[in-house]
Amino acid sequence: MMRPDTQRQRTLVDQLRPRLLRAVIRPDGEPVSRTRFADLAGISGPTAVRVARSLIDEGLLVEGEPLEINTGGRREIALRVNPKHLYVGVVVEDGLTTEGEGIATQALAAPATLDGSLAADPVVETVKDTKDISSLVSAIHSAVSKTRARAERQGATIHGIGVTLGGHVRDEWVHHSSNIGAEWDQPAALGSRIESLCATDGSPLPVLIDNDANAIARNLLLRGGMEPGSTVVLLKQLGIGAANLVGDAVFTGAHGMAPEFGHITVEYPSKRKCRCGNYGCLEAVATPSAVAKRLQSPGHLWKQALLAHQAREQVRSELVEAGGYLGIGLSSLINLQDPSKIYLFGVPEFIDEEHHPATATPYLEAMRTVVKSHVFPSAAQRFSEALMKESIDLRLLPSPEEAAVAATARWVERVMQE
Ligand SMILES: [Zn+2]
Repeated sequence: MMRPDTQRQRTLVDQLRPRLLRAVIRPDGEPVSRTRFADLAGISGPTAVRVARSLIDEGLLVEGEPLEINTGGRREIALRVNPKHLYVGVVVEDGLTTEGEGIATQALAAPATLDGSLAADPVVETVKDTKDISSLVSAIHSAVSKTRARAERQGATIHGIGVTLGGHVRDEWVHHSSNIGAEWDQPAALGSRIESLCATDGSPLPVLIDNDANAIARNLLLRGGMEPGSTVVLLKQLGIGAANLVGDAVFTGAHGMAPEFGHITVEYPSKRKCRCGNYGCLEAVATPSAVAKRLQSPGHLWKQALLAHQAREQVRSELVEAGGYLGIGLSSLINLQDPSKIYLFGVPEFIDEEHHPATATPYLEAMRTVVKSHVFPSAAQRFSEALMKESIDLRLLPSPEEAAVAATARWVERVMQE
């Protein structure tokens, strides 16, 4: 039988493991050593050594460079995440690149470490038929398989796969995604299908699936890049997604669907059809592709449509209308959710006024005007001229590589909980 004091020590080590992992994954400026961790956690040196040993033995941490810390003649060693302990992040997205006439749906895979560093360049596979789940599973498998083989050749180990896509995702099932084929509206066990196919390459790899915006929010939280209680909005070329935080947890509603911000109705009655099948959804009227369609251009050719010089005034007025609709969406979101802050990520042409003033300025000015006049009176101050930029933090969309790192965020959360 285990002695009670040994049992107590083990329990203490288990309790402290997430804390040390968090300190290493998200250092506050200085690298973490055993002594520094002992100070941070207010524990004894020997206990800090045991916690570090447990994480090193498990392959999660390694010893890094010697540090210039005076600990009575002994040199302290920095603790780092193991660069060979990897997760594959897979991003399913339309329009990572364009193919032929339309925008191809693709699966991009890249391996990431626990601290969110990319361990190799991404591999991209095109989904041949977006209405066929087998085609999607096969593209994901192919991208993962190549990524895994390359990592193993370099002596690294893949421990899991994280997949993100737009739509309603819950418990590794995809309930609906209009991003990957409008006809694919039957719930699909995407996670287990990917696991089955990847198991044919060797040892099985578990899969965690996340909504794309939720994954971005999760990743920002893990890395300290987001305030608790805030909201993330993604303005993509074809769609709009969002994630709401309650405190520092992602809120996904009673059935895992929330928030389908791109599909709130902002025009009624409306003849503008959305990819989800409804009419008048926010993403059917406020996205770059929605503007292109108004300019009688196919949605995927939105950049060309915006540059059409002969229609300058019309382009401007469509941008003002689209920006106004985004403002309606955002003010409703503010009134419903009361976020501490909104992080609005978007395509450069719609979000970066410095480099794209001809398109971003009319769009964003219209958005700000509508937000200012439609938020509940007690929120008006936070969305006034002076504070708007702080309350709605404009950022460029994460790159596909950053999105792949975000796709591994549920794995990092899980490792930290164990
Ligand atoms: Zn819709």
